[in-house]
Amino acid sequence: MERSSTSQERYAGTVTPVRILTAELLSIGTELTVGDTRDTNAGELAGWLAGLGVRVDRITALPDRLEVVADAFRMALSRADLVVSTGGLGPTPDDLTREAIADVVGESPVVDPALEDWLRSLWARRGMAFPEMNLKQAWLIPSATALANPAGTAPGWLVHRAGGGWIVALPGPPREMRPMWADEALPRLGAIGLGADVASTTFRLADIGESQVAEILGEAMLRRSNPQVATYARAEAVDVRVSAVGGADGDGTVRTAAEHVAIAAGVVRERLARFIWATGEQTWADAVGERLRARDWALGVIEIGTAGQVCALFGDVPWLVSDLSVRTDGEVTDREALLARASQARTLGHNDVGLAVEARELEEDMRVSVAVCTPDGDRYEDRMAFLGGSQGRARAALVAARVLFEALGSGAGGGSGDDVAPGGEIEPDARP
Ligand code: ATP
Ligand code: MG
Repeated sequence: MERSSTSQERYAGTVTPVRILTAELLSIGTELTVGDTRDTNAGELAGWLAGLGVRVDRITALPDRLEVVADAFRMALSRADLVVSTGGLGPTPDDLTREAIADVVGESPVVDPALEDWLRSLWARRGMAFPEMNLKQAWLIPSATALANPAGTAPGWLVHRAGGGWIVALPGPPREMRPMWADEALPRLGAIGLGADVASTTFRLADIGESQVAEILGEAMLRRSNPQVATYARAEAVDVRVSAVGGADGDGTVRTAAEHVAIAAGVVRERLARFIWATGEQTWADAVGERLRARDWALGVIEIGTAGQVCALFGDVPWLVSDLSVRTDGEVTDREALLARASQARTLGHNDVGLAVEARELEEDMRVSVAVCTPDGDRYEDRMAFLGGSQGRARAALVAARVLFEALGSGAGGGSGDDVAPGGEIEPDARP
């Protein structure tokens, strides 16, 4: 399809440079409101926008009904600088997004000759007759610029409403939506002025519960709005997210967002250093894999009573060369026996690193023993993880990952685990 070469000039000529700071998202399609399809589009777009400093105020799912969709566009435009929709750009009569937008901006769609040529060529290329129903996908209104769809037949629209406000209409299928958003919509929105000066960083913590983190950071820090420090209890970590917008902080000191974040993150790091195992979106597989790859080591794993959760946590990764998972409740392994297992696992791991883990239910919780053998030495630790059963086994795998991570970082230590927080436990998100 021909890309609109006039869009940039058009914006430059008619738009006062007001940045896009707020957005609402509309997910259009009856399949969403009857529960046949899960809305993943809006979440992905929200992540993009938030990262770019655009505040998303609402996410709405709507059925394929013209008056409902038109009304939603109208309301969203009355509140937000930008409205992004997905879905309803197909050729069938129930695809009504174009009609709804045309109604809201008070314009009538006409067939755009360039889009029509492009559409007809798609069918001609395959030697097929063009279904006239698809002509709808060549529609444009005067306020709209077409967004190319290299993965489908539905072009998107970028619309500037005369009274103010921007609309981006994207197709529903995620594989069409994503490239159109990233390659077609974002560059144009960027040229208009997208988002505030924002920055953020996330620390991932283990061996500490969310409430302890809150205690260490203190109420004053957690109550500040800029920079903002927030804690999140996730399955695999307690995350501490530091974020800021450029401008004044609580004391009136003006800095860029990145400067605010750097200062606050420095304090967080100083106070919580010994619990931090990763930053950003790193997983345990990333964090452990990084340390193994740095020394070109492979890992062999033997699991007892964990139902294979340790290998499941790491997933299909090249440095995990072999595994053996024994499902048993009976075995009670002592320190020496488990270290012997780790040594056996080390043989599996090309004689680099061996990990042996045993989980046993102890009343309602899980006792986890972890043995690690590396070329630097051995390490053995006993810890408790909250809950039994499947949840307990999943937590046991996290304990194993933590002990392994430490062993890989500090040399295996004397095998006592004395250099790490004793009795560390993974705090439950919510105890039943
Ligand atoms: P097409 O021209 O391909 O029909 P469209 O813009 O008309 O595109 P829809 O008909 O609304 O898109 O949706 C097509 C498919 O895309 C849906 O059946 C669904 O599988 C997927 N889809 C639609 N909306 C979403 C959404 N919000 N999240 C995830 N998937 C979605
Ligand atoms: Mg459709």
